[in-house]
Amino acid sequence: MKVLYVASECAPFVKTGGLADVIGAVPKNLAQFGIDTRVIMPAYPALASLLARGKIVWQQDDLFGGPANLVAVKSKGITLLLLNAPHLYDRPGNIYLNEQGKDWPDNHLRFGALCQVAAYVASYGLPRELKNPLNDWQPDLVHCHDWQSGLVPAYLKMVDTKTPPCILTIHNIAFQGLFDAKVIETLGLSRSMFVPDGFEYWGKVSFLKAAIAYCDKITTVSPTYARELMQPEFGMGLEGMMQSRASDLSGILNGIDTDVWDPIHDRALNTSYYPRTLKRKAKNRAQVEARFNLDSIKNPDAPLFCVISRLTTQKGLDLLVETLPNLVARGARLALLGSGDKDIEAAFIAAARQFKGKVGTIIGYDEELSHILQGGADAILVPSRFEPCGLTQLYGLRYGTIPVVARTGGLADTIIDANQAALADNCATGFQFAPITAISLDHAIDRACQTFKQPDVWEAMMRRAMNHDVSWDKSAKAYHDLYASLLT
Ligand code: ADP
Repeated sequence: MKVLYVASECAPFVKTGGLADVIGAVPKNLAQFGIDTRVIMPAYPALASLLARGKIVWQQDDLFGGPANLVAVKSKGITLLLLNAPHLYDRPGNIYLNEQGKDWPDNHLRFGALCQVAAYVASYGLPRELKNPLNDWQPDLVHCHDWQSGLVPAYLKMVDTKTPPCILTIHNIAFQGLFDAKVIETLGLSRSMFVPDGFEYWGKVSFLKAAIAYCDKITTVSPTYARELMQPEFGMGLEGMMQSRASDLSGILNGIDTDVWDPIHDRALNTSYYPRTLKRKAKNRAQVEARFNLDSIKNPDAPLFCVISRLTTQKGLDLLVETLPNLVARGARLALLGSGDKDIEAAFIAAARQFKGKVGTIIGYDEELSHILQGGADAILVPSRFEPCGLTQLYGLRYGTIPVVARTGGLADTIIDANQAALADNCATGFQFAPITAISLDHAIDRACQTFKQPDVWEAMMRRAMNHDVSWDKSAKAYHDLYASLLT
């Protein structure tokens, strides 16, 4: 089976969030089912060296204002089809935002082009006249991810020949790709689809809605988020549309790349550790204390919490700011790594000043440091207001860094709350809280602090967390089964 993934990021090549981790991990896991996956994505400047060693498999003189080609290259177990269109992608800064932190004004062209070329490859295959063995390829199925790939199903509907079935995975419905209606002609879309059942959203063009309307099946990254998407609190205006596709919607939980996230072989850590050698984690805690300017404590009687996150209201970190005085008063400490909204960044910088030695803040994006935090902290806080799946709590499980999470979306599906019954049953892996308020977060932090004072209970929970299956095995099989159901 041949599957084309359409996405805007793919780890470890280009990453701004969890989407990249998923795109980087699933194709490798699908290979065990004989699925040949290729990932089509833009050739951003960070991919220049890959581009240089790849082979051109398709080209066009004018793709929305400049020449473009598609370059096939294999790296780290993934076959990439890089859309090389310098007028659209060769620019500094974030892949979605300019230096002022605003969306690139031509994002409709940048990702519309990705969709158009992906739909072309899906419909006609890679042209054989370029005489490259990689060219003999046409997908049996297309798998789109988030709004940046949203126009693929719409373009496929406009093609006369039979086209492959198309699946959409929604990684976060908050990002919808909304543009002025005047882009319809620029992007070569059909006006007849600019209707409420199509890609029209209150007079605008919605890339994500196009995919929801025209794809064959929809998945999202956890069963709870699949249900939430049909409710007004979470559907972000698309809940009606999601309800209309309920019979085609399912939730398939994200896994993690257990080779990349592995406390036994993680080179970022001072010391590797197993569920049987948990005490060695203390050496990694010292590494976190040093990096975050925290007081060094040999045998702390309260946990060192960490946060690794985009700093946005989605992630609920403003709630954490409110609870910080209580956290510190309990003797606990916090190391936070993140970047995002300037006011949330400022609040944590101020907190590090106010609670010197107890709260450490590093603003920025640092993959290695995120491993150090997972390896050295005792617990990880994820107080998201909504969370489609969430990955940092899964890394937390793998590293025995106990997750304290809001009861929403994938957080609810992946963490077993340490309530009395779960503790008695020996199945608790973390702490959940609801409603998602500062008071209830504070209560969960308190429960974590109380449990930490009972080393036997805490360590048993760490071992259970580390033994919890967070691999892609089950979910890769679920994707395989879904693909197979569309091809029979
Ligand atoms: P989202 O995709 O909504 O940002 P996820 O939890 O699904 O949230 O994925 C976030 C990913 O980005 C994780 O792999 C996490 O470790 C990583 N991450 C987030 N912020 C940072 C940061 N400041 N430095 C390093 N990694 C980060």
